[in-house]
Amino acid sequence: MIPVNEPLFLGNEKQYLNECIDTGWVSSEGPFVKKFEQSFASYLGLSHGVSVCNGTAAVETALYAVGVGPGDEVIMPSFTIISCVAACLRLGAKPVLVDIEPVTWNMDVRQIESKVTKNTKAIMAVHIYGHPVDMDPVFEVAEKHNLKIVEDAAEVHGAEYYSQKKDAWLKCGSMGDVAAFSFYANKIINTGEGGMVVTRDDTVAKRAQSYRNLCFRADKRFLHDELGYNFRMTNLQAAVGLAQVEKIDSYIEIKRKWADVYRAKFSKIEGVKFQPVKDYARSVYWMYCIELDPKLGVEAEDLMNRLRKYKIGTRPFFRGMHDQPVLNEMGLFVGESYPMTDHAYKYGLYVPSGMALTEKQVDVVCDAVAEELK
Ligand SMILES: *Cc1c(COP(=O)(O)O)cnc(C)c1O
Repeated sequence: MIPVNEPLFLGNEKQYLNECIDTGWVSSEGPFVKKFEQSFASYLGLSHGVSVCNGTAAVETALYAVGVGPGDEVIMPSFTIISCVAACLRLGAKPVLVDIEPVTWNMDVRQIESKVTKNTKAIMAVHIYGHPVDMDPVFEVAEKHNLKIVEDAAEVHGAEYYSQKKDAWLKCGSMGDVAAFSFYANKIINTGEGGMVVTRDDTVAKRAQSYRNLCFRADKRFLHDELGYNFRMTNLQAAVGLAQVEKIDSYIEIKRKWADVYRAKFSKIEGVKFQPVKDYARSVYWMYCIELDPKLGVEAEDLMNRLRKYKIGTRPFFRGMHDQPVLNEMGLFVGESYPMTDHAYKYGLYVPSGMALTEKQVDVVCDAVAEELK
């Protein structure tokens, strides 16, 4: 089997883990937690990192930290993971969707302003599959309507966006008021399970720290004005995370190397679109995505089934948030239509994308796709 993903550990992971065991520091009180937070935040050029137990918790903590609460609306893409919608709902806020633009599968930023109401509190920019959202229009709408920008950067550690407005390359996760990262095992860097909220704002960081730790009052432990969660990260996870950050440039280089190989090979197959990258983007290719031309008469699901015979692991694209039974039953997004999202779901998939890929495996994948689409 060529797995769709497998993590790679190139550096000090074992040494740091041994240190945890040898010293007995395994909980969130251990010293690697702060070291990991500082090293990742400083990689992004930010002053605060607040680690949490997974990316979903990071999204919710980030929304809470910028003050999203009951009655607020948050604008986000229909093409995303349910974590984004769930986080909103758990805070009593209302998720509001926009469709994606067809080339990069990122949110269609031109649709955002038409969804702004007097209740809109934030825009959640979800950078998709390693490629940044076109942020300049997001900056403009946010400024005009006084909205917070929350980045879901779970798929883009190290990706960059060229902002005309600011005339600079900006790192994903450093462009808004707050950002959420995931360190799940298949992300660019991983801690098995894990996440982080990052920000340059002291107040936002304090709120995030409070929410992940049961909202203990800073001045009086065991006194609470609000309800939080135990979203804390362990020292064991942070030990792995620190070692991963130390080598992050190597991981990104590996992702880009295989992207170039895949791109060259897929460009020879008619009807296959391989992960386009806009001029304003430096992608980190979280996943190697392809979209099939409907003219081929083959849908993503068909191709995934056929590739299984070759023992090639694949995954489907996101299914739209407007097309989720659990949300429709709550009365959400009923009758709303997001055709570009539906199209991406129907024709998009990703092929093996692990850090440990070999040239031979990439050949096998591309040959099998070519054979099945002949
Ligand atoms: C992976 C991911 C998350 C959630 O991260 P977990 O660590 O799996 O909870 C959130 N948003 C996006 C866009 C993701 O890809």
